[in-house]
This record gives sequence, structure tokens and C-alpha cells, in this order.
Amino acid sequence: MTQSKSTKDPSEWTVEDSSILYGLDRWGKDYFSINSLGNITVSPKGSPTEKLDLMVLLEELNGRNLKAPLLLRFDDILEDRIKKLREAFTHSISTYNYLGKYQGVFPIKCNHQHHVIDKILRSGRQWNFGLEAGSKAELLIALSLINDPEALLICNGYKDQRYIETAILARQLGKNPIVVIEQFDEVERIISASKKLGAAPLIGIRAKLSSQSNGRWKNSVGEKSKFGLSIPEIINGVKALKSANLLDELTLLHFHLGSQITDIAVLKDALQEAGQIYIELKHLGAPMGYLDVGGGLGVDYDGSQTATPASTNYSLQNYANDVVATIQESCAAHNIKVPTLISESGRAIASHFSILIFNILGTDSNCEEIPKQENQESLAVENLRKTLNTIIAIDKNKDSDIPKFQEAWNDALKFKDDALTAFRLGYIGLPERAKAEQLTWLCAQELARRIPKDKLVTKELEAVNRALAETYYANLSIFRSAPDTWAIEQLFPIMPIHRLNEKPTKLGHFVDLTCDSDGKLERFINNGKVKSLLELHDFKNGSPYWIGMFLGGAYQEVMGNLHNLFGTTNAVHIRLTNNDEYKLDHVIRGNTKADVLKLMEHNPEHLLERLRMASELAIESGKLKINDAQRLLEHLETSLRQITYLHE
Ligand SMILES: *Cc1c(COP(=O)(O)O)cnc(C)c1O
Repeated sequence: MTQSKSTKDPSEWTVEDSSILYGLDRWGKDYFSINSLGNITVSPKGSPTEKLDLMVLLEELNGRNLKAPLLLRFDDILEDRIKKLREAFTHSISTYNYLGKYQGVFPIKCNHQHHVIDKILRSGRQWNFGLEAGSKAELLIALSLINDPEALLICNGYKDQRYIETAILARQLGKNPIVVIEQFDEVERIISASKKLGAAPLIGIRAKLSSQSNGRWKNSVGEKSKFGLSIPEIINGVKALKSANLLDELTLLHFHLGSQITDIAVLKDALQEAGQIYIELKHLGAPMGYLDVGGGLGVDYDGSQTATPASTNYSLQNYANDVVATIQESCAAHNIKVPTLISESGRAIASHFSILIFNILGTDSNCEEIPKQENQESLAVENLRKTLNTIIAIDKNKDSDIPKFQEAWNDALKFKDDALTAFRLGYIGLPERAKAEQLTWLCAQELARRIPKDKLVTKELEAVNRALAETYYANLSIFRSAPDTWAIEQLFPIMPIHRLNEKPTKLGHFVDLTCDSDGKLERFINNGKVKSLLELHDFKNGSPYWIGMFLGGAYQEVMGNLHNLFGTTNAVHIRLTNNDEYKLDHVIRGNTKADVLKLMEHNPEHLLERLRMASELAIESGKLKINDAQRLLEHLETSLRQITYLHE
């Protein structure tokens, strides 16, 4: 007789269970999965037939002395994202018979790293992929790195005279910068720069739309937004350009709804409004030709496909369809030639390709043994022992026993409080207080084991889980490597990258290396909601436990700071070669301690020299032995050359 699947032992934990638990099957479906060894695998080209085992990779990197925390960058994923974006638009263009094309640009501010921009331009070259610059420094990057004469360079941000003149001169160099007017006074600056140089730039206008976005960045649009021209300003700007003989250069209309648009309805409204403005600009005599829908294409961080902050209620294809179809309709109604469509999608291109790997240094785990009973115990401890026995005697299958869960937990908390008061007043000592805390924790553990999952769980009983939660100490600075989790409460998928064939029996959160109480990760994805504790494995001293933070390739690196002088981590660019092999394209060493000290205007040599002099004095006065002084200085010197994180 063959065994049917349903006879599987329910206590048996499979990698599929892990995939569902951490939502990997939803947010990771194109690039990440779990193999039978319980390790996460990466499919850098988006095809499940080619995979790299993250654990094997990490061990091999360790062998090259590249240790966690590590930023792994899969350049093939970057390429695949550009390809997918491009394919989505190509598909919509043919579906709706759109007689124009799509041309993307990457907003540099999303990830400024040289190798990243370089890779994007190389991969996107076949589709004339360009760049968007929002400052003069970014303009410099864009001008020097773009070498495709067809690629666009969208110039956004505040512009002074020099910015505009640079763009005009670069046009003569054979580049295609389009200067987008974001503030009304830039109209005058463009006019005067053009007169001065006897040449004009290509010009765009950013419109302030009345359509309201949702989500965190909703203030990027609307009549009160920081950027863009109001409708009266657009009319006046066009007049001014016309009388300066520059209207022939007005080729682009731009809008930007703010990052991470979660609800597609918002985009539809904006597209209709922008479509009408585009038509009006044509009627006013501008040649036009480009419509730039800005950034905002969202990433489904939790895989829930909802209009919640960590998700989107649309796919890449839905997005492209809406852009193409709406503009097609607007133009058809007025018999106007459709524009080339541009998007400045940053988050959607750069999020997936990098994974931050950090190791756990330890946990604050509790001892699971019942403290030994002694003759003279305090009342609070005695009561806690009784409560623990009551909990153990509860029959979870008896409905009449259900209220006892809550009652017992309330009792435990009360008796623990009593113990703390007695301690403060000097009636009990530290050993007695330790017993009380230990017993309360055991009560929570026994309760958590017994509370039936399908029965109503009150808020207080949720607190049982919190009481049981463990703190996992992470070799990481969130201020450096995941700043948005702190600054704007952004959610990223975070999960162990191995042991996924083993049931995670703990609930925990992470604290980082900084001395800042904000330095922690305690908000986790939960299919459209948020949870404050993550299912984790028992941490065993001596065996590494590696955690990955996924989808963090956009914005995190540049927003990160040097809090407590934790610097950049090592970063590795990995490319897939044949037969599931890989190649390290670039290794970017993290900041050493000397590097971060210099950034703060300290001179590491001087700091060392002062300590050397102090040690000479201590030797002279007989407080320090010569070889100990030598050892101290050696530690300091070596430390300066090493990166800022902890190493075994
Ligand atoms: C930030 C920004 C973008 C990028 O937005 P994403 O949501 O990352 O795609 C594009 N355009 C402008 C003008 C921006 O300010």
C-alpha cells in the first residue's frame, strides 16, 4: 500500500513551510527559493533552472576573508529588472497599438555606486537606457558615464546658472540632456544662459498635478508640493520661452507622484491629467515629443499585492498598460502624435539585486530549568510556583479551561510585580528576584505551548509571546545598512538564509551594534500587515546563524550614516557564469576604522602617536610592561586597518 501525502507527520517541518512562513513564495518568486538543504538559493537571471546556493557562496566568500556583514550584489538581477520593465512596456505598446516607444532612465539618487550605474548603462544600452540626475554632482556622473548618443539624460532638481550652462554645453558634446523646469525662476535662468552661450538646451516642464498620491510620499504631488509648476506658471513659462525664441526646445512634460505608489488608481488619475496638459502644450505651439511619468513604480516588499505601504496593488504589466493605454486614449481624442514614454523607475529596478547578510553574535536567551526550591522562599516566588503548576494543569481541550489562560497570565504578572516591589524595598535579594523573573518566563513559555491557536487570543495573551521573545544581537548597524527601517519605518523581507528545513522555535527581534536604543529591527512583513516578532531558530553558540535582508538595493546605501562610526560593509558584485557557477566581478572593501576616523577629521596617525607617548610614560613609571605596551599598540594599529564590524 502506498502512503498518501496526508499521512505526513504534522510536526515535520519542510522548506515549503518556511517559504510560506516568511512570505518568500510571494515576494521572492522571481529570484529566490529554498533548496532541499534548507538554504536560500538565488536565480540571478530570473530563471529557476540557474541557481546559486547562498550558503555555499557565503562559505566561499568567507574563505576569501570576506565576512559578514556583507552586501551581495547580483548584477544579473539588475539586468533582469531592466529587461522586465522594458518587456512590460513593449508588450503594452503592441497590445494597444501605440505608435510610439518607451525609453527608460535610471534615477541616480536611488543607488549612486559607480559599479551599479555602470552596470545599468551597459545592460540597458541595447534599449538606450539613460539616467536621471537631481543635482550637479549627479549631472557630472551622468554626463561622463552615458556614452550612448541615443540615451536620455533628464536633469531634475534645483538648478543654478552653472547647472544650466553645463547642460547646454553638454548638448554640443553630443549628449542629450533635457533640462526640466522645476521652479518658475528657472525659466529666466534658462533664457539668460541661452543668450549668453548662443545655444539652447532641450527643455522640459515638471507639472504640479492636482491628483493626490497616497502613501508616504504623497506630498511630492499636489498643489503644495515642493517641485513643479502650477498651471498658471506653465502658461506664463510657455509665453516667456516663446518670446525668447526658445519654445522650439520645449520637448518634454514631466510629473512625479512620489516614490512607492501603492495604489494604481492614483496613477490613472495623474496620467489623465498629465495627458491633457501634454495636449495643451502641443496646442500652445511646443513641439513636445516626450512624456516622462517619473518614478513611483512600487515594489511588493511583502508580496501581499495590496495597496498597503509595503506592497502594491498592481504588477509591472498593469503599470505599463495604464501608462500606455491612458496616453494613447488622450492623444487619439485630439488626433495628436503620441509621445515617447519615459519612466524614471529607481526602486523597481534597484531593489532586488542586493542582499544584506549579517550574522548573529548571540541572544539573551533564558534558562529553561525550573529554579531549585529552597526552604525559605518569598511569597512572590511561592505564588509564581503555584501559578506555573496551575498552567501546567490546564486542559486546553476543555472549553471551560480557556479563561484560565488569561487568569494565570495576569497572576504571573502580578506576582512578578510583587517581587520587584519587594526587591526595591529591600525585602528580598538578587537571587530571589532572579527566581521570580525566571518563573515568570517559564509561565509564559508553558502558556505559549498550551494556548490553542484557533481560540480567541486576547491582547494580553499576545503579550505572553512578547515576554518570551528573544533578542538576537546582530553584527550590523541599521543606521548604516538599513536606515529606512528606522527613519520611515520601511519594511523589508528579513529571514534566515539557512536552516529552513528546521522549524523555527523562537520568536525574536534584532538589535544592532550601535549604542542607540533605536538601533533595532522589530517590524517584519506579515502579508499586508506588520508583526513585531520574527520566527527564528535557536541560536547555538559556535555555529553561525546568518540572516538576510532582501530587496534593499534602492536608497539604503546612500541614506546610511556613520552613527557610532560604523562604516560601509564589504560589498561583492556577483555574476552568474555557466553551470550554476559564478564570478566575483568587483569586491568593494568596507570602510576601515582609519577611514571613518578621517571622515570625522581625526588623524589616525596622531591618535596612535598620542597613545604611544602615553604608554612610554606608563612604562617609565613602572605601571605598564614593555611587551604589554607593545601588544596594546599592535591591537590598535591592526584595528585601524580593519573594517568597523565584529569578527570572530
Ligand atoms: C526619487 C525620484 C525618482 C525615483 O523614484 P522611484 O520611486 O525610486 O522610482 C524619480 N524621479 C524623481 C523626480 C525623483 O525625485
